[in-house]
Amino acid sequence: ESIEALLDRLCAVIPDYPEPGISFKDLTPVFADGEGLRRVVDALAAPFEGRFDAVAGMEARGFLLASAVAYATGTGLLTVRKGGKLPREVFRRDYELEYGSASLEIHQDALKPGARVLLVDDVLATGGTMDAAVQLVEQAGGAVAGVAVVLELDGLGGRAKLAGREINALQLA
Ligand code: IMP
Repeated sequence: ESIEALLDRLCAVIPDYPEPGISFKDLTPVFADGEGLRRVVDALAAPFEGRFDAVAGMEARGFLLASAVAYATGTGLLTVRKGGKLPREVFRRDYELEYGSASLEIHQDALKPGARVLLVDDVLATGGTMDAAVQLVEQAGGAVAGVAVVLELDGLGGRAKLAGREINALQLA
């Protein structure tokens, strides 16, 4: 079974959630499936093999995947958290969502200088979240090795917002 077929089979699609007109992709059934989780985690990291020292996950679903990728590849795990959660000095980025705004933070000393970082999340939509995380990793002294997501939502501009970055999306949806 191809990874695309596996995702088609296991990903749940919820119409009009969390707002009318939005078709929400729910990957929790993929994570709950032993083969699904393993194949997704391996496929996220594969194109970047040997080219990263740490994996950064975005709170909260990105944490699940980034943790598994870091463990599977013997690299470190970094947490990019929602605003106000990290206990020490942070760098912060505020960005716009489709409805309202959000902020992400990283510890100022999270990275060794020049560390090569793979950023991981479940879904790339407008790219606002991933772009904020990319900027935080660079502000903290890291080099962005690339971006890995399970689903890239088509037509929302995420890829354009991340122009110049190497992106591995397992499926375009
Ligand atoms: P963006 O910032 O617009 O690219 O939205 C991406 C962020 O919102 C990611 O952290 C995703 O977890 C979340 N997200 C957006 N759309 C979906 C979806 O359909 N399913 C699951 N998560 C989503």
